Amino acid sequence: MKALTYIEHGKFALQEKAKPQLVSARDALVRVTLGSICTSDLHIKHGSVPRAVPGITVGHEMVGVVEAVGADVKTVKPGDRVTVNVETFCGECFFCKKGFVNNCTDPHGGWALGCRIDGGQAEFVRVPYADQGLNKITDSVTDEQALFVGDILATGFWATRISEITEEDTVLIIGAGPTGICTLLCVMLKQPKRIIICEKDAARAEFVRKHYPDVLLCEPEECEAFVKEHSDHGGADVVLEVAGGRDTFQLAWKCARPNAIVTVVALYDEAQSLPLPDMYGKNLIFKTGGVDGCDCAEILHLIEEGKIDTTPLITHRFKLADIEEAYRIFENRLDGVIKIAITE
Ligand SMILES: [Zn+2]
Ligand SMILES: [Zn+2]
Repeated sequence: MKALTYIEHGKFALQEKAKPQLVSARDALVRVTLGSICTSDLHIKHGSVPRAVPGITVGHEMVGVVEAVGADVKTVKPGDRVTVNVETFCGECFFCKKGFVNNCTDPHGGWALGCRIDGGQAEFVRVPYADQGLNKITDSVTDEQALFVGDILATGFWATRISEITEEDTVLIIGAGPTGICTLLCVMLKQPKRIIICEKDAARAEFVRKHYPDVLLCEPEECEAFVKEHSDHGGADVVLEVAGGRDTFQLAWKCARPNAIVTVVALYDEAQSLPLPDMYGKNLIFKTGGVDGCDCAEILHLIEEGKIDTTPLITHRFKLADIEEAYRIFENRLDGVIKIAITE
């Protein structure tokens, strides 16, 4: 089968590989019917994910059809359409039981797929702990509607959940990239008083303006003053930092009102400083980290009910055979690209 492979620092290539096989009784084999490219794939390509293993098949955003299951798999069967979770988790350890599945203590727990074990920018993918890692897609939901459930939408949903948003809140989201938009969609479900998005890229800002006209938009340079002006208590009640830029962490806490929750979803290329003397007395609550992707069934239900729609994010479609060209467009942000769907 064809599989996009991490060759070495700076290089991915589409290679011919053997079709994966079931290894454990809890595995499933999934035929990938639709995949996507994530910024995290670019992080692997450019060496900022040291645990990524050269030779692995990359890709961790996908949906597909179950081809085969191990003897202990209970929740899915061959023929089921499924979303695949970016995270591998056992469902049984201390952290899994608490819902902190990103910290599953299994040796392959956390983000393994397309990083430490073969992923889904390929014709087939083996999914460990299939009862946890797969969720059934109902007939009324299309592959494109479900495509982002296991990764960026799970991230937006989790970030929103831990941010404790109320209907009185002014919520600031920094960054309107694909994960920022997914976060926005989930924040909208909480019906806060105001949502402000800070985005410096004109095309991304335009996307927000076009699809979500009720959202207030500002640029980084004016953000602090803009948020002060458009909030009730001198700053945002909740800040979600999804940009991961050079100065966006500083911007996040500066735009927060005293006692606000600042949720940091972004993955930074460099260490960030926490200038405690400057924020002393502001009494901020910081929440950080990688997604606990354990709400996929609920997310799929919201999609089915028409409450979340991520399909406008899909701006381009390419066949797996042409995925290298898709990467060129995604990586260089050409042609107004937001997300690319990779078809069979
Ligand atoms: Zn991702
Ligand atoms: Zn676990």
